[in-house]
Amino acid sequence: MTDCLFCKIAAHEIPAEIVFENDRVLAFKDINPKAPVHLLIVPKKHYATLNDIPDDEMEIIAEIHRVVKHLAREFGVADRGYRTLVNTNAEGGQVIFHVHYHLIGGRQLRA
Ligand code: AMP
Ligand code: ZN
Repeated sequence: MTDCLFCKIAAHEIPAEIVFENDRVLAFKDINPKAPVHLLIVPKKHYATLNDIPDDEMEIIAEIHRVVKHLAREFGVADRGYRTLVNTNAEGGQVIFHVHYHLIGGRQLRA
């Protein structure tokens, strides 16, 4: 999608602190971190929200979780604990309309 920030980051048209990349998934540091570790993991293919991923393309979610698991270990929060979350649409607090997983950790998180 031409006018999407995260598509532009995935295409390397806008800089980001990239921490993982393969053919399908990109991970980078959140520009406004809520905790010592705050990463965003995105599919390279544009889906506006989780609702927009067709059932037969949901394998991308498993792929993203594989990357989450790997990055949690790499960033030293796997055993201490961390939070993975996806905001969807207005009441879910979604601001960027390209599916992204937050990986947040490195401090005690509250409910
Ligand atoms: P959400 O509310 O789930 O849509 O979260 C969007 C997230 O994207 C926020 O945590 C922002 O800090 C983050 N963000 C916005 N612009 C950038 C950017 N250029 N690079 C990295 N993270 C960004
Ligand atoms: Zn996009």
